[in-house]
Amino acid sequence: VAEPAAAVPLIWQPPAGALWSGRWVDGASSMPVHDPEDGSFLGRVTDAGPAEVDEAVTGVATAIASGESWPAWRRREALDAAAHLLLRRRELLTEVISREGCKTVREADSEVSRAAETLRLSAQQAGCLTGETLPFSDTPRGHDRLGWYTREPVGVVAAITPFNDPLNLVAHKMGPALVGGNGIVLKPAEATPLTALAFAQILLDAGVPGNRFAIVPGTGSGAGRALVGHPLVDLVSFTGGYRTGNEVARTAGAKKTLMELGGNNAVLVLGDADSESAARAVVAGAFGVAGQNCLSVQRVFVDTRIAARFTRDVVKATEALRVGSKADERTDIGPLVNEREARRVEEWVREACESGAEVLAGGRREGAFHWPTVLTGVPADARVMTEEVFGPVLTIEPFDTVDEAVARANDTLYGLQAGVFTAGLEIALDVAQRLRVGAVMVNDSSDFRIDAMPFGGPGRSGIGREGVRYAVEAMTEPKIVAVRRG
Ligand code: NAD
Repeated sequence: VAEPAAAVPLIWQPPAGALWSGRWVDGASSMPVHDPEDGSFLGRVTDAGPAEVDEAVTGVATAIASGESWPAWRRREALDAAAHLLLRRRELLTEVISREGCKTVREADSEVSRAAETLRLSAQQAGCLTGETLPFSDTPRGHDRLGWYTREPVGVVAAITPFNDPLNLVAHKMGPALVGGNGIVLKPAEATPLTALAFAQILLDAGVPGNRFAIVPGTGSGAGRALVGHPLVDLVSFTGGYRTGNEVARTAGAKKTLMELGGNNAVLVLGDADSESAARAVVAGAFGVAGQNCLSVQRVFVDTRIAARFTRDVVKATEALRVGSKADERTDIGPLVNEREARRVEEWVREACESGAEVLAGGRREGAFHWPTVLTGVPADARVMTEEVFGPVLTIEPFDTVDEAVARANDTLYGLQAGVFTAGLEIALDVAQRLRVGAVMVNDSSDFRIDAMPFGGPGRSGIGREGVRYAVEAMTEPKIVAVRRG
């Protein structure tokens, strides 16, 4: 089938459709990559099947088993070099991220900085792979021994990533796995494999040994399942949706797993908050990347006394957002990942309206674009309240007491992050303690993260914590040596 010509070809194309054993390889099957904005053709990548995944995993596993030395100081040097190269290729990466994904050029550009930071933080961890001596002499059975533990790599990491942060989330798998001394095979999201391949080129150019990592583009049910289920994989690190997470867990069986799943994040705006600054932060946090962000603000609970003013400010700021082409520097909101997803969001909004919700802004769709939408009067059981929307939809509901607000914020199966706006330190700390989430941002929206934070949350938000240092911890294991003295 002839591909439609790209309107503007990408300035970077991978040398081949996949990479393993330090070589660019074209697999037996391939799949096209399109710009979600207009469907234009951007390139083809390998659609890896089980045999190709097996080749990639076996290559990495063989390198790890060979005991070939790649000392920590060299890992640090290579990851630091990769961080620099990433910034030097900023323009190219910004273009690839933005064209194949959903980010505007401004959003894509800032993701490049984030990914460089993730690699720099990963490099630093080379000097922190320490253990400690163990108190053998404190027990009658151990007093004749001297011993310690060191941190050892788990072995082969299988990583699966989503489309919404196609560079930084790949860096969050690669950086910690490599600095910990592991090998890693990564399957990027179907929509955004070119960014992962551009990143792979950077790792090679920075001096990461080609037999330590591989990129196998493909589908979830094909390459993804084969990778997760591969017997030589020691740890599965997955970032994606809750439902997919369940499937991955079933395939992984008793393998070690790390799961970064979804959010349904709440922000509380208390009566003494600076309403204007809260509205600004909420709008930015709700609609960045068209709401396709695990930290997006989805539900806002605002004190009845300031609800009218706050809601007016939110609606005004929402209506000022420019929906348009990702390539335009002035654009605030680009497309959803495909038209099917935009239709799903439209359907959820319609369903909420049919059960009594009112649209205060937006509520419109065209192709893959969904306008930033503000709803109020949404019943507690509507999907825009109970499920992760992963689209540009924000609900605002008034509350009378802080207890009620906390209870409503906690009324979700997810628990990634939350925000609370208030002028009172004591009440902020009290609310922070009572929210069942992985992180609470005081006087900011839920959408804030630095890459060094332990990242994750309770409930359906995942298993374990990512964030560079914590991922390195999860991807290494203590190994004890005990010496018996005479
Ligand atoms: P998704 O769950 O549809 O896909 C994620 C990845 O899993 C893709 O690479 C996909 O191909 C793969 N996959 C699908 N089925 C699989 C299977 N059976 N076996 C193995 N792999 C399989 O998610 P998405 O739409 O790409 O991303 C959106 C989701 O990701 C949202 O829920 C969002 O909250 C979540 N997310 C979480 C974080 C976090 O750090 N907590 C960060 C970003 C995104």
